[in-house]
Amino acid sequence: MIAPAIPVGIGVYSLFASFEADSRIPRFLVREARVILAAGIVLAFVVAFMMSMAIVHMVKTERFAKAFALGEIFIVIKKIGWVKYISWLMEVFMFAIFWCVLGLTPIVGWFILLIIQPIFGVFLSRSAALLYADAVTSTPPVVSLENKFCIACGAQIPSAAVYCPLCGKSQSG
Ligand SMILES: [Zn+2]
Repeated sequence: MIAPAIPVGIGVYSLFASFEADSRIPRFLVREARVILAAGIVLAFVVAFMMSMAIVHMVKTERFAKAFALGEIFIVIKKIGWVKYISWLMEVFMFAIFWCVLGLTPIVGWFILLIIQPIFGVFLSRSAALLYADAVTSTPPVVSLENKFCIACGAQIPSAAVYCPLCGKSQSG
């Protein structure tokens, strides 16, 4: 989130500077303050779009390099569904804006932040992990090596079972 923070920072600073008519700020920055700010917000959204799932993908696969496997991340997002994923991101962004407002409200805001910060952190990581898990495990389960099929009724039963728990037939033949 560092790269988009730069244009957002410049944009906000230039906006304030334009109000105070600070002559130290280059003219073009003051003129384009809103454009720079908007570009920064769009960039932040794009980065967040890829980064949220990149981090989850990295954690789930337990490999740092997976955070940069953009192709795999796109497949995960596609499985989640673009609409579902973007609406989830919007929700997160709404929280982030609420966050900033609280942070700018002295004492009362900071106090509320202190309480909801851990809750927000848990909510964010859990909802991201849930989105990921939903998409990745939605494929039908593979027959496990731990299971065999009943010789009489064909039900999937534990490989250690002597009798079928469904039909009760002996599995020793
Ligand atoms: Zn059976």
